[in-house]
Amino acid sequence: MQVIRNSLDTTPGPSTWFTGTVFIDTVVAPTATSRLSASLVHFAPGARTAWHTHPNGQTIYVTEGVGLAQCRGAPIEVIRPGDRVTFAPGEEHWHGAAPNRFMTHLAMLEVDEAGNNATWGVHVTDEEYGQPPVPTTW
Ligand code: MN
Repeated sequence: MQVIRNSLDTTPGPSTWFTGTVFIDTVVAPTATSRLSASLVHFAPGARTAWHTHPNGQTIYVTEGVGLAQCRGAPIEVIRPGDRVTFAPGEEHWHGAAPNRFMTHLAMLEVDEAGNNATWGVHVTDEEYGQPPVPTTW
C-alpha cells in the first residue's frame, strides 16, 4: 500500500482539447504494469471537450453539477451526479458542463500499448453545443 498525499498540481485543460475553462486533477496515472488512467475533470459552465475517441473506450462518472454528453449522430444527453456514461472504443463523442452549471466527472480509461488515451478532433461548435438535449423526466 502507498498513500499518495495530495501532491499533483491541478492542470488547466489545454485549449486544443477543450472549449472554455477546464481543470484536471490526476487520480491514477498509467504505469509499466497498469494501463489504468483516471482523472477528475472540472468543467466551468459552457465548457466541453472537443470531439474525440478513446482507443479502449472510457467511463465517466458524474460527481457534481449538470453536464451534457453526445456521440456523433445521436442527440445530446443531460448527465447528472451518479450517472455513469460509457463510450465504446473508437466511438466519437464529447462531454462537458451544461451552459448554466458547473460539472465534475471522474474519467476512467485504459491507455493503448503506446500510452495514448485519446485521439482528438475538431472543437464542438456553439451550434452543435446549443442543440436541445433529450428531455429528461427527473
Ligand atoms: Mn471522452
